[in-house]
Amino acid sequence: MDLRDTPEEAALRAEIREFVARNLPEGATRRGGRRFEDADREWSRKLGEAGYAGLTWPEEYGGGGAPYSHQAIVLEELARAEAPAHLGVIGLGMAGPTIIAWGTPEQKARYLAKILSAEEIWCQGFSEPDAGSDLAAARTRIDDRGDHFLVNGQKVWSSFAHIADFCILVGLGVPDAPRYRNLTYVIVDMHSPGVEVRPLVQMTGQAEFNEIFFTDVRVPKENLLGEIGGGWQVAMTTLLHERGTLGFALSATLDVAVRKLVALAKERNVFDPILRDRIARAWIELQALRYTNYRSLATLTRTGVPGPEGSASKLVWSEANQRVTKLALEILGAPETDEYWRYQQLRSRGNTIEAGTSEILRSIVAERVLGLPRSR
Ligand SMILES: Cc1cc2nc3c(=O)[nH]c(=O)nc-3n(C[C@H](O)[C@H](O)[C@H](O)COP(=O)(O)OP(=O)(O)OC[C@H]3O[C@@H](n4cnc5c(N)ncnc54)[C@H](O)[C@@H]3O)c2cc1C
Repeated sequence: MDLRDTPEEAALRAEIREFVARNLPEGATRRGGRRFEDADREWSRKLGEAGYAGLTWPEEYGGGGAPYSHQAIVLEELARAEAPAHLGVIGLGMAGPTIIAWGTPEQKARYLAKILSAEEIWCQGFSEPDAGSDLAAARTRIDDRGDHFLVNGQKVWSSFAHIADFCILVGLGVPDAPRYRNLTYVIVDMHSPGVEVRPLVQMTGQAEFNEIFFTDVRVPKENLLGEIGGGWQVAMTTLLHERGTLGFALSATLDVAVRKLVALAKERNVFDPILRDRIARAWIELQALRYTNYRSLATLTRTGVPGPEGSASKLVWSEANQRVTKLALEILGAPETDEYWRYQQLRSRGNTIEAGTSEILRSIVAERVLGLPRSR
């Protein structure tokens, strides 16, 4: 099998490299984490204008109608350039694909174009203080009040909620229905009366995610996605997309980290055989991740739906990334002197929790990739 770029793919790669060189503001790399400043909005807008946001979305919704391999190349090149992520990651990667799959024509017309242009930012209200890995335990109430829904409850760890215009919200819609048939999925306008967002500061010192409190929030009936009580199926579409399309960005990010690690080891003349062995292992893991991503891409291209292999990529990447950043700090000896590696190590802890913890992902790989008996 020839895994090299086709001439068309090579042209796209050259084009995006040139776009980054021309448009990425000086010093605006992701090394210091997400900043949510005007410059990030401007960068996101430019990505949208150039057609790099929603590249694989159908053309009728303003997307590029391009194959998934093109999306992979764009994600790979942006990660390689350490460019900041599009501010609409949740809109582009989760809300948008879910609306495309489940939305009414009116919802598609109302929301999709402004996700692409980064005019409206989205957040994801799934996790709660007592419902994280177990989304089916969500207790935020989405009560049917005839001509509207009434939302009451609390969500937590909601990335981007402090700058979001809309939230994809999963909550308890039919309290007496059995598990998995009791959830409802709605779109909530974050500027509605009764929505309160409180930022949470992470150990990196940045506030990327938030608590959201909902008190008697009125949500119009037309904001329902899927059926009342059918929220679980809609949420599965969102979660498959969350993990499924990110693989190439993840391996490119790890590629950058491993290259920097090797450069650091050379600069510091690392002769310790154990450290050298761990560096070599990191490089080997990176190669394995890359080929797993090709397999995921083949599934996605064939079926149009991300497969469970995405869970394996996210698991391997997040754990490898933690090991690489820890190794770099060990080589440095005095970590407080290096802002890049210190930030990367602290942020990498969250990577093994967000978008499914490592334990949950191992269960998904065991059951859905390897076909082992279900644990529950
Ligand atoms: C940086 C970051 C950003 C996030 N952004 C968002 C967001 O935008 N929107 C959102 O809704 N959520 C977000 N989250 C929340 C994230 O999805 C949850 O933290 C995650 O799903 C785990 O849930 P929890 O924190 O409630 O932990 P729990 O589910 O309570 O898990 C606690 C521990 O028990 C383990 N565990 C739980 N169940 C099982 C099981 N069945 N088998 C084996 N082990 C198990 C877990 O692996 C974990 O180690 C974010 C989290 C982080 C760190």
